[in-house]
This record gives sequence, C-alpha cells and structure tokens, in this order.
Amino acid sequence: MVDSQYVLPNDVGLALLDCSEAFRLLLRGERLYAHYLSRACWYGGLVVLLQTSPEAPAIYVLLSRLFRAQDPDQLGELARSTGLTDQEYQAFLVYAAGVFSNMGNYKSFGDTKFVPNLPKDKLRRLIWQSQAFQEQPEEMKLLWDRCGELMFSLDAQQRQLGLREKGTTTYFSGNCCLEDAQLAQKFLDSQVLAGALTWDISPVPPRQPQGLTTSVGCVYAPVDHELAPKLRSFEFEGCTFRVTRGDYAPLLERVVENLQRTKAHAANTNQEHMLEHYIRSFTQGSIAAHKEGSRCWIRDKGPIVESYIGFIESYRDPYGSRGEFEGKTRDQTICKARWSVPLTCSCLMVMSASPTSPDDDIRQTEGFKNVSLGNVLSVAYATQKDKLTFLAEEDKDLYIKWKGPSFEVQVGLHELLGHGSGKLFVQEEKGTCNFDREAVINPETGELIQSWYRGGETWDSKFSTIASSYEECRAECVGLYLCLNKDVLRIFELEGEDAEDVIYINWLNMVRAGLLGLEFYTPETGTWRQAHMQARFVILRVLLEAGEGLVSLQHTTGADGKPDALITLNRNKILPVGKPAIERFLRRLQVLKSTADVAGGRALYGGFSAVTDEGPERFLSLRDTVLLRKEARKMFVQANTRLEGEDVTLVQYEGTAAGLIRSFSERFPEDAELLERHLLELSDADSHFWASRG
Ligand SMILES: [Zn+2]
Repeated sequence: MVDSQYVLPNDVGLALLDCSEAFRLLLRGERLYAHYLSRACWYGGLVVLLQTSPEAPAIYVLLSRLFRAQDPDQLGELARSTGLTDQEYQAFLVYAAGVFSNMGNYKSFGDTKFVPNLPKDKLRRLIWQSQAFQEQPEEMKLLWDRCGELMFSLDAQQRQLGLREKGTTTYFSGNCCLEDAQLAQKFLDSQVLAGALTWDISPVPPRQPQGLTTSVGCVYAPVDHELAPKLRSFEFEGCTFRVTRGDYAPLLERVVENLQRTKAHAANTNQEHMLEHYIRSFTQGSIAAHKEGSRCWIRDKGPIVESYIGFIESYRDPYGSRGEFEGKTRDQTICKARWSVPLTCSCLMVMSASPTSPDDDIRQTEGFKNVSLGNVLSVAYATQKDKLTFLAEEDKDLYIKWKGPSFEVQVGLHELLGHGSGKLFVQEEKGTCNFDREAVINPETGELIQSWYRGGETWDSKFSTIASSYEECRAECVGLYLCLNKDVLRIFELEGEDAEDVIYINWLNMVRAGLLGLEFYTPETGTWRQAHMQARFVILRVLLEAGEGLVSLQHTTGADGKPDALITLNRNKILPVGKPAIERFLRRLQVLKSTADVAGGRALYGGFSAVTDEGPERFLSLRDTVLLRKEARKMFVQANTRLEGEDVTLVQYEGTAAGLIRSFSERFPEDAELLERHLLELSDADSHFWASRG
C-alpha cells in the first residue's frame, strides 16, 4: 500500500469548468481573441513540465501517446483484458488526469509527488499491449525506460520539490544547495537580471560552484540592447557565471506566434501594446518588456476577455525567485466588474481568487488589479456538510451559508489592500531614498529607519525562501483586519446581522485553514510546501497565542473511532482579543518587510511557522489527523476552442478523469507529435544537471 499522501484518490473531485454561456455571448472578434490567447497559454503551459521534475516531460509524452492512439474507453477494455481491475484502471486514469492538470507529477498545490496507485508491472503490461506501443514499440519502450522507474519511486528525496537532499527541482541542478542558490541570487541582483526570467542555476560538479550557468528563457532572436551585454561569462565572488539564453525556445515560439495572431483581434490599442510587450518579452527574454506589458495589463480595465501570461509566480522555486510559466485566459462577460472599490479609485476589482499579480515594483508605483475565475469559484464553493472537517455541528450550516460571501470579502481585501499596500524603503543606486531618512519613524522601535533595500535588491531576492509565504500572511492579515470595518463590508453589500456572520465565518474559516494547512508541512525536512497554507497556520498560531479563549483547538475521537479534532472560535472575542492581536502582528510583519530586515523577519515568521508536538496543541499529532481526514483537491476539466473557417467553436468535455484526458488528447491537434519531440529534446539537453544529484 502506498502512503495515501502520494496518490490521488479514485474518487477525486473532477468538475467541468463550464464557460459555454460566457462564450456564446462573445462577439466573433472576441472569440478569435480568446482563441489565440488561450492557444498561447496552452503552449506556454507545457513549459511547466520542464520546470517541475526531470521525468515530467517523458511522463507527459508517454501518457499523451497512449491516449492519442486509444481513447480512455478503448484503453479501458484492453486494461481489463490484460488483468487490471476496474479500480486499478480508474487509478491510472486519475493519475493521468493529475499529470495533465498539474502539468507534471508533483501537485501544483502542495508540491508533493503523486504516483500511480496500481502495481508497476501491471501498468507496464498495459503499455506493452497498447495501440501506441504496437505503432511505435521502440519509442514507447525508450519512454518507459526514461520515466517508468521515477514515475513510481518515492525515495525520500523525490517526495517533494526542494533543493538537493530536500527534494526534486529542475530550477537548480541536482548538486545545488541553498548557499549556491543564494550566491546565484546575489549575482543576478548584481547584474539586475531579475530572477523571473532566468532558470537553471547549475554548478558544475563536484559541488563547488566554480561554474554556474544561468539561462534566460526566451526564443532565439536578435539580442536586444538591454540583454546583449549580459550574455557572457562573469567572475563573481570567486565563481564563474555564464549567462546563456534560449531555454524553452521551441515552445515559446508557439506562444509568440499565437500572441501575434491575438493582436490582430485586440479590442483597443492598449491591448495591442500589451501583446506587443509580451511578444518582445518572450522573444528576447526581456524583463523590462514584461513589465511594460504588465503596465498595459493594469490599464486594460474590465476587458471582455481577460488574460495574464508569463513567468510570474515564484511559489515553486525552492529559492523563491524564479517564476513558473502561467497563462490564463478567461471570459468575463458573466462576472465582469460586479463592483469597483471606491477605497482606491485607480483599481478595478473583479471578483477575485488566484493571485495573478504583476511584478512587485510595478505594484508599488502603478497599482494593480486582480482577477478571479468566477466559474472556478462557483465549483469550489460547493461544500458538502459531511466533508466539513474539524468544525462544531452548530457552526456547519452557518459556514456553508456564508463561505462564499466571506471568501469574496477576504480575497478581495487580501488582493487589493493586502498585496496592494505597504511601501518598501528603497535607496536607489545614485543614493536617493524613496523616504525621508530624517523623519520616518519605525513604529516598533520609535527610532529612525535603520535598514532598507539597496540597488537591485527586491523583496523576493532579499527574503527568498520565506518571501512568498510571508507576503501571503501579510495579505491574509489585512483581510482579517479590514473585514471588521463596517464601511468595508458595506462595499460588499453586507450590513447588520449578515455582516456579523460574514466576519465570524471569515475568521472561523481562517483558523480552520490554519489547521488544514498542516497537510502541507513535511516533518522529515521541516519545510512548508505551500505558501498560503503556511501563512494560515502562522495566523492560527498568532490567534491561539492571543489567548483569552478566542480560539480553542481540541484533539477528539471521531464517530468512526479514529482521531479527530475540533476547532472553535469565540465570536464575542474577535473584536476585543482577535483584532488587537492581528493588528500587532500585521504591523510587525509590515515594518520588517518595509525595512528589509531579513533577520528579524526570519525570526518572527520562522518562529510562528514551527510545527512541534509540544502541548497543549501538539501540532505534529494533529497533522496526522489532518492527513487522515483530508479531501483531495478538485481537478478542473477545461474546454478547447477550435477554429472553424472564420469563426471559433467551443468543445467541452465531461467532468471526469476520462473527460480531462480527452481534452488534452485534442488540445494540440496539428502539432502534438512535434511538441512532444521538442519537450523530450529540451529535457535531454538538461539531463546532465540531474545526474549529479546528491
Ligand atoms: Zn496572495
């Protein structure tokens, strides 16, 4: 039996992301715009395979070939005839769906590996009998040799993403340790090569980083004047750094082609400019161009078809600074601009959910906007009472009733006023500061500001491994704090008793999330694997520490006789106890962030992030209970768009593992084989970096 942490359950939730109604309402030009933009996103999405694990590209290709030659139903018949039980075949379908929807064999939320929940020899037998194998026996055998072993193995180092002995990553070579990563970051900062477009930090073995290569992801194209002087070897702190470029080129070429086609259907010149900048960014690896694009994106307010594309969020880099490719296209005819927030008039707020935020420095100077996937949220809201773990019976109905509205309030405040607030103190290279050094007082110490960001230093480069989670925590605290404000709730059309209930459920949801967060902590390495969940755990700790009966957390025994837990929040203590506790903590977080005080930040955040088995909470034991009762994250089946003559049609699939697999089998109808060859070649080109792991 494989540890349930590392398999996706056969009954994992799968839901169709229905966008047919929204799509129907688009005009033809908008449909074409959405079509090409989503093509760009899907092509770019393949890059994530290369950014996950050494074996992920081969697994993807193997599965794609299997299901292209035989539909899930046909392969299922074959599976039964080769001795797989229905359970085992379903496990295989769920695994394949998991690889496609996570773009790799590590969970995109939580960073743990997942393996097929069936015997390896049975899967091998099925592959050997398959149509794909009959057509290309040598190639299928080679693919299996490349990834068969790694697909199933759960060696300690392979269980999660991480550096060196702590896990797997393709952002750094296998022999890279944290000190190497820090040195590389220092080098990148010195050259103002923002981490987001670089990749692949690879010391030459043996471990001594005398030769580090850093590569800029882009299409091969004439080098622009910004990048040209940086493509060479550098001596830096006793090491040689060689900067190259062209990673992912064959995939990014497809992205660029489709962005160019998108441009022909732009709704206005601002959208055209946005696309031009993104094209330049992907063509030349230019960070400045991506920032320009982000500026246009911010100005592209309330577009009919919303999008954001690029190497953006850095949650999955063990060092916290390289961005994973992400592309989203969505149609907002349905959820478009339900309300705008009068608190800061420069921002348009559209519902909310996934943090798709432009670079921090743009956020600081130009504002930003946030976007949500309305159809994702409505599926995610659907909560069954019996799946509501760790809550008191009397809380459950209220929780179900107000979960959606309270989530909107929290995410809205988190994104807009959380991430969107808080100044960083910076001294430019010429010496000028963006604050008055003689006047600004640190409210924690009562003294003048003692530390700040210098030159090329950024929040991510400075706070590296804790930056993502710390920032999420700050934003969550802002949400908790501001939801107590009646004027704020009125913007969300919440007043009276409803407003009180939303506050209560928002806070209750936070403390429950803090408990659920334990799933994303790895005791063996003492690390957290998910920024948001770590942040919520930290907040739970802060609220427990506030005492006075605000939050209580008990170990209990469930009706099934197994360990359980119960979390309760005293709603009468939120204002007198909870509010001042969050206020104090948020101020400390903000001051340490603003003043670039890494040591203080690490001490504070690391302290609250520690998971021990000390009483009274005994969090390590609670973690076992959380794992025992966890629910697997839902997967979403997304539609394809097809060009038909001069127009675009939408192809939807059923909300099952087979439906998700079909959507991927039909995703690249013209060039699937070529793309797969590119993926394997790109993966081959880097394979020597992983051989040196350990
Ligand atoms: Zn966030």
